[in-house]
Amino acid sequence: ELAEIASLIDGAANSQASQREAGRSLSEQMAERCDSLAGSVESARDLAELKGQVASQLGQIRESLNQYQRAEADSETLTDQLAQLASRVQQMEHEAEENRESLRRHQHKALHDPLTQLPNREAYDERLAHEVKRWERYGHPLTLAVCDVDHFKRINDQFGHQAGDRVLKVISKAIRRRLREVDFFGRYGGEEFVVLLSGTDAGGAQTFAERLRKAVQTWVSDMERLSVTVSIGVSTRKPEGETSIHSLFDRADQALYRAKAQGRNRVAMELTCHTGEAPCVQAGLS
Ligand code: GH3
Ligand code: MG
Ligand code: MG
Repeated sequence: ELAEIASLIDGAANSQASQREAGRSLSEQMAERCDSLAGSVESARDLAELKGQVASQLGQIRESLNQYQRAEADSETLTDQLAQLASRVQQMEHEAEENRESLRRHQHKALHDPLTQLPNREAYDERLAHEVKRWERYGHPLTLAVCDVDHFKRINDQFGHQAGDRVLKVISKAIRRRLREVDFFGRYGGEEFVVLLSGTDAGGAQTFAERLRKAVQTWVSDMERLSVTVSIGVSTRKPEGETSIHSLFDRADQALYRAKAQGRNRVAMELTCHTGEAPCVQAGLS
């Protein structure tokens, strides 16, 4: 399409140049013909000779005018071409706007879960990488809470998959309402959610996670008249001993596992190592 527009502009530029040239040439020819007519009037010895010379000059003037009119017709083509160009550009702007909108929709779809409209696992991975970079640069505490619905399979089995879906939506709303703008909250997969808290240390995160747990227990149960609870595992990024970007998640997941083992509907913090040795979490699990 750009090539088409470029060729239209070329044509328009050529046509404009030849129109200018035709105008210049017409005025030169007219001046010449006027001089020539004046000369004929001066030099003609009788009326018949003058008549012949005037007729020939008039013929040439008509030819010059014809040439100019042809150039003028070209110029009308130029106007048409420019109008065509303007409408083509307008159409392309419209298409570009549609493409931008479609790209925005696709990006949103790629990074969100269709059921809860929360950011999905992909979005979590992106955000985690970003938060870890910020953590490396600024050193603010970075805490992760992994939140898993207790005995969710039973809810599906007892009330059906659609009721299960509704519970997931209600839980996500209950949690989202309690978060700050800067916190990341996403659906990690299935009945598992993640919250990334930047600038919140382990103590703050424990209080926060406890509030989330209670919020789900009361709010969801009121709404659905079901007993729905969640278990939450919490971990904090450490200055040393982080083996990979995902080690934060692994430790929160291990804490979650303990919360489940200890009876569910509870918050478990990752086990901390008092000796300062790195793989304290593994020790805690055993
Ligand atoms: P636990 O307390 O140990 O976490 O038990 P659980 O039943 O919640 O865990 P389990 O992993 O055994 O079962 C998870 C269930 O979640 C099984 C799966 O069918 C269901 N599930 C996952 N995604 C969805 C979903 O999008 N909608 C519904 N309705 N169910 C889902
Ligand atoms: Mg579960
Ligand atoms: Mg699960």
